[in-house]
Amino acid sequence: MSRIDEVFARIEGSREEIISLQKELTSRMALGPDNGGTGEHEKAEFLKGKLKELKPDLLEEIHAPDQRAENGYRPNLLATWAGEKGSPAVWVLSHMDIVPPGDLALWGGDPYEIRVEGDRIIGRGVEDNQHGIVSSYLAVKTVLETGPRPKRSMALALVADEETGSEYGLDYVLKNHPHFFKRDDLILVPDGGNEDGTMIEVAEKSMLWMKFTVLGKQCHGSTPEKGRNTLFAAARLIVELAKLKTEFNGRDDLFKPPVSTFEPTKMEANVPNVNTIPGRDVFYMDCRILPLYPVEQVLSHARRLAEPVARELEVSIRVEPVYRQEAAEPTSTAAPVVQALKKAVKEIKGLDARPMGIGGGTVAAFFRRAGLPAAVWSTEPDTAHQPDEYCLISNILADAKVFASIFLEE
Ligand SMILES: [Zn+2]
Repeated sequence: MSRIDEVFARIEGSREEIISLQKELTSRMALGPDNGGTGEHEKAEFLKGKLKELKPDLLEEIHAPDQRAENGYRPNLLATWAGEKGSPAVWVLSHMDIVPPGDLALWGGDPYEIRVEGDRIIGRGVEDNQHGIVSSYLAVKTVLETGPRPKRSMALALVADEETGSEYGLDYVLKNHPHFFKRDDLILVPDGGNEDGTMIEVAEKSMLWMKFTVLGKQCHGSTPEKGRNTLFAAARLIVELAKLKTEFNGRDDLFKPPVSTFEPTKMEANVPNVNTIPGRDVFYMDCRILPLYPVEQVLSHARRLAEPVARELEVSIRVEPVYRQEAAEPTSTAAPVVQALKKAVKEIKGLDARPMGIGGGTVAAFFRRAGLPAAVWSTEPDTAHQPDEYCLISNILADAKVFASIFLEE
């Protein structure tokens, strides 16, 4: 039996180990302070023990100072198994933190106690991001069990704070310990993907959230001539803002959807009763912009579209950005990490994976901003943040094989 077949056979036999790991990880609630928790400490401690058993050459716990968290820090773990000198490392980065379960009535059981139904494991965090933690751990373990160290170094990063901005997670690690990651390393982030594992995420759109405040004059519902109706003005403005779609109508087929999106979303409550004409209305817009347009350009165009509406209806309109994030330089579709993933997915799943861009933000953007080509990839039903979040054991097995075969690539 060849080495890779031996590795695959061991991965295939890991169902019970996957269930047991998922059970232990799920029971160690890892909520950051912004989500009402104390941090990832318990989960990190458990994982540190598991990594130690695999005798890494380096196992470092990096503490990102956070006074709100237990013991005043957030834990980040880095482990490496050195290969041949001069060969690139293959990093797999997963995050330890989870989001709160939300409405418990929507869950079929305790979110922190896994339920196993055939191929399915249900519980908070099992997909996001324990799927990544477990599959990458299994890959390292089975490679180590079946022979000498591979030529490429194997490396795992388990970080904190992905769900609430990464300030105490990957962002902190990259700013304070940049030497761990090299430009020619292959960096895999199994924190997003699609159901058959054919999507390799290499690019993200820029994000802009805008707040529109419309001020007019409140009055009685029977005497509109005495006031200036801001709900009517807001409605007119929303229709006007649809022109952003034609102004910024560039197309890039790397992305899904291939165009920039401009959607009105949240509307704040105005008056509580039907017979009052509102004098203040506030609504928001979520824009995902192709990297070819600067965010500032969209913002100033939105302000220009508001001017004639304000003039005609005699209201004032304030347009403010409440969140903006310029897209990071995409990972090249020719990057070694993308090519390695394509090759491994073809071999293991028999499918053609392709590089794509998405509208949402992922933690890989921090790598890209630091000039490190990273690819987001995994096989998952995308139940993250939902009640009864689940993962499929068969997907974890397949993804572990993909990671192992990239580790073993000469
Ligand atoms: Zn995640």
